[in-house]
Amino acid sequence: MKKIQMVDLQSQYYKIKADVDNAVLNVLDSAAFINGPEVKSFQSELEAYLGTEHVIPCANGTDALQIALMALDLKEGDEVITADFTFAATVEVIHLLKLKSVLVDVDYDTFTIDPEKLKAAITPRTKAIIPVHLFGQCANMEEILKIAREHNLYVIEDNAQAIGADFTFSDGTVKKSGTMGTVGTTSFFPSKNLGCYGDGGAIFTDDNDLAHKIRGIVNHGMYERYYHDEVGVNSRLDSIQATVLRKKLPQLDAYNEARRKAADYYDEAFANHPHLLAPKRADYSTHVFHQYTLRVLNGKRTALQQYLAEKEIPAMIYYPVALRKQKAYYQESNDADFVNTDKLLDEVISLPMHTELDEEQLKYITDAVLDFFK
Ligand SMILES: *Cc1c(COP(=O)(O)O)cnc(C)c1O
Repeated sequence: MKKIQMVDLQSQYYKIKADVDNAVLNVLDSAAFINGPEVKSFQSELEAYLGTEHVIPCANGTDALQIALMALDLKEGDEVITADFTFAATVEVIHLLKLKSVLVDVDYDTFTIDPEKLKAAITPRTKAIIPVHLFGQCANMEEILKIAREHNLYVIEDNAQAIGADFTFSDGTVKKSGTMGTVGTTSFFPSKNLGCYGDGGAIFTDDNDLAHKIRGIVNHGMYERYYHDEVGVNSRLDSIQATVLRKKLPQLDAYNEARRKAADYYDEAFANHPHLLAPKRADYSTHVFHQYTLRVLNGKRTALQQYLAEKEIPAMIYYPVALRKQKAYYQESNDADFVNTDKLLDEVISLPMHTELDEEQLKYITDAVLDFFK
């Protein structure tokens, strides 16, 4: 059996190696390393895939979030609401820009921000909401967008983990994750569902003025060469990463389908287990399984992780600490307001999930998990 890894980037690369190698060599040969035609082409291809007006590539997913916030003209101390249970980058950029993060609990079944608790956290200083489409499934965007409209708030979708997921609104409209709010962001970190071979990210919006502003911010606040209208940053996707992404984008739906197949296998093995809860699939969103995250009940999570490690099955805890309790973003809070987050911190375990898991590996993993409880 092939060695089991959380993510197997090498096996995936070998399947497209000739094509990717050739494309990368062509970029080297062209010497158009920055802002070359490959970046422009990738940008339009991603716009077409997502059905959005504007994709603005940038250097990574954290920059994408930061730049999206910078483009919205928020003022020091303005409040931005996001989930207490997510990767740190989401809240880090809020603090970096001297805005105030307001963290709220997530839904126990979907791991995404709870719209009722979000509503309760709104104050006259609230300016924006950052829903995170955690682990590959959209947050409840219909509810979130309704709340945002009522309170005149910006919505920035952190779509680093869910590119390719579809959200279905109650009127039947279907939209791609990241294209529903004021602005969406993503990451092309290698292990993400659409990953490059280094760092990369992008910002999406349908708003022409906002897109113009963002294109300036990523390039030193420059709209006309050497005229700097505002303080920006330097954040670019390079041509080598763009050419890799151009080879992988046409495979994205198949990659997500391969993840879904692995998740189906897991789901079936763990159905009705007295100690395990499989991740719930919401009826409003497809799931692209950036992670396959089980909840382990009855305090057995750590022992399960150790048991799996002995069998050479990696498993990770995403995420072990609530953001409100991290040293860098610490805030006074009432634990009673965060019951779901706090339960999840003790229960979640993510199993190996990638496009290259074969049936032999899946059987070995699921057998090991089930054996642990025997
Ligand atoms: C990966 C990730 C980011 C940051 O992306 P980078 O490209 O690593 O900067 C932001 N938010 C979430 C939810 C992520 O998973």
